[in-house]
Amino acid sequence: MSKIEMKIPLVEMDGDEMTRILWQMIKDELITPYVDLKTEYYDLGLKHRNETDDQVTVDSAEATKKYGVAVKCATITPNAARVMEYDLKEMWKSPNATIRAILDGTVFREPILVNGIVPYVSNWKKPITIARHAYGDVYKNTEIKVPGPGKAELVYTAADGTEIRETIHEFDGPGILQGIHNTEASISSFSRACFKYAVDTKQDLWFSTKDTISKKYDHTFKDIFQEIYDKEFADQFKELGIEYFYTLIDDAVARVIRSEGGFIWACKNYDGDVMSDMVATAYGDLSMMKSVLVSPKGAYEYEAAHGTVQRHYYKHLKGEETSTNSIATIFAWTGALRKRGELDDIKELCQFADRLEKACIKTVEDGKMTKSLSLISTCKDPVILNSLDFIKAIRSTFDSLN
Ligand code: NAP
Ligand code: MG
Repeated sequence: MSKIEMKIPLVEMDGDEMTRILWQMIKDELITPYVDLKTEYYDLGLKHRNETDDQVTVDSAEATKKYGVAVKCATITPNAARVMEYDLKEMWKSPNATIRAILDGTVFREPILVNGIVPYVSNWKKPITIARHAYGDVYKNTEIKVPGPGKAELVYTAADGTEIRETIHEFDGPGILQGIHNTEASISSFSRACFKYAVDTKQDLWFSTKDTISKKYDHTFKDIFQEIYDKEFADQFKELGIEYFYTLIDDAVARVIRSEGGFIWACKNYDGDVMSDMVATAYGDLSMMKSVLVSPKGAYEYEAAHGTVQRHYYKHLKGEETSTNSIATIFAWTGALRKRGELDDIKELCQFADRLEKACIKTVEDGKMTKSLSLISTCKDPVILNSLDFIKAIRSTFDSLN
C-alpha cells in the first residue's frame, strides 16, 4: 500500500511525560506506516521551553496561525515543584494559555462514545459538546474583603475623564465585593467560533446565560450572539437544517439532562468550567474526550483533554509496565489530519482519520482496552493491555477494517 501524501504540513507540538511517550508510539505504529507525514515540529517539552525562554511556545502558535492546523501533546504547566524538578529559569506560563492568547480561541470538548461505557444519564445517546468561553468574568476578577460599614460604588472613568458611577451597596457591617468584566471583542469572537463550529459539525447550537437577572452584563452576551447569528450565520444554519437556540442557563440545564445529546452547548467562562466537568464525568472521563481550540481567525488546534499522566510516567521511568489510554491523543492526531484533508482536498487523509477512529472504538468494543477503561466499561472479561500493546491492537484492528 502506498502512503497517503500530504500537501501542507501540520504544526506538531510535542509535549511531556507519559503523553510524550504515547506521542512517539502513535506516530510510529499508527501514522507514519500509512501517511507520508509532513509536520513542522515544535518541541514544547518543558526542558526545551526552558532552553528557549518559552519562545518555542509562541513560535508554535504563530505557525498555527500561518498553516491553520496544529496537533498538540499534553504539556506540564510548571508549579513550584516543577521549577525544582526541571531546574527552570522561571515558572513558565501554561502553554495552553499562551497559545490561546495568540489564537484568541474557544475550546470545544466532546466525549468519545463507545458501547460498553454507558453514560450515567441514561437518555444521553449522542455526544454533548461544551464550548467554553475562555476569557474574563470571574477568572479575571478584582475582589475586596469589606472590613466594616461603608459605601461600595462601581466607577468607570472614560478616556476623556467623564465618569459613570453606580452604588453597589451601603454596607452596615463587614462583607465582600467583586468586580468582573468582559469585552465586546472577546464575546464576538467567542460567538463566531461557536457558530462556525456548529456549521462545521452540522449540529444545533445552544447558548445560555442569566440575562433575566443580569440585564446588562449577561444580556450583552445574548445580544451579541443574536446579532452575529442574524448577520453572518442565519442563512448557513437554514441551509444545513440546524438551529440556534438561546435559553436561560437554568432552563438549559434541565433541557440538557432530558435531551438525547447531539448538540453544542456554548457556555460563559464559569458555566463552561463547571458544566464541562459534569458532562465529562457523566460520559466516562477525560481520556475519552476530544478537545479542539477553534480560533475565529480560522486556525484549529487539536489536543487531548487530559494532562501528561505524571504518575504513569514515573512508573515507566522505573521500568514498570504502564497501561495508559492513548485514545484522546490519537483523536487529536485524527482530528488534525482530517482537518488538513478537508482544507487541502485530500479525501484519502479524511478517510484514514475516520478509519483510525473507528479502529480505536472497535478495539475497545471488542474487549481490548487499558486498565483505566476496564474500570468504567461494562465489558465482562476485558483483555487489559499495556500502553504499547493497546496501540498495537488498534493497529491490527485498523488493518482488518477495509
Ligand atoms: P493527568 O495527566 O490528567 O492525570 C491524572 C490522573 O488521571 C492519572 O494519574 C490517571 O489516573 C488518570 N489519567 C489521565 N489521563 C489518563 C489516560 N490517558 N490514561 C489513563 N489514565 C489517565 O493529571 P496530572 O498527572 O495530575 O498532571 C500531570 C501534568 O499535566 C501537570 O503538570 C499538569 O500541568 C499537566 N496538564 C496538562 C494539560 C494539557 O496540556 N492539556 C491538561 C491538564 C494537566 P491513575 O493514576 O489513577 O491511573
Ligand atoms: Mg474545571
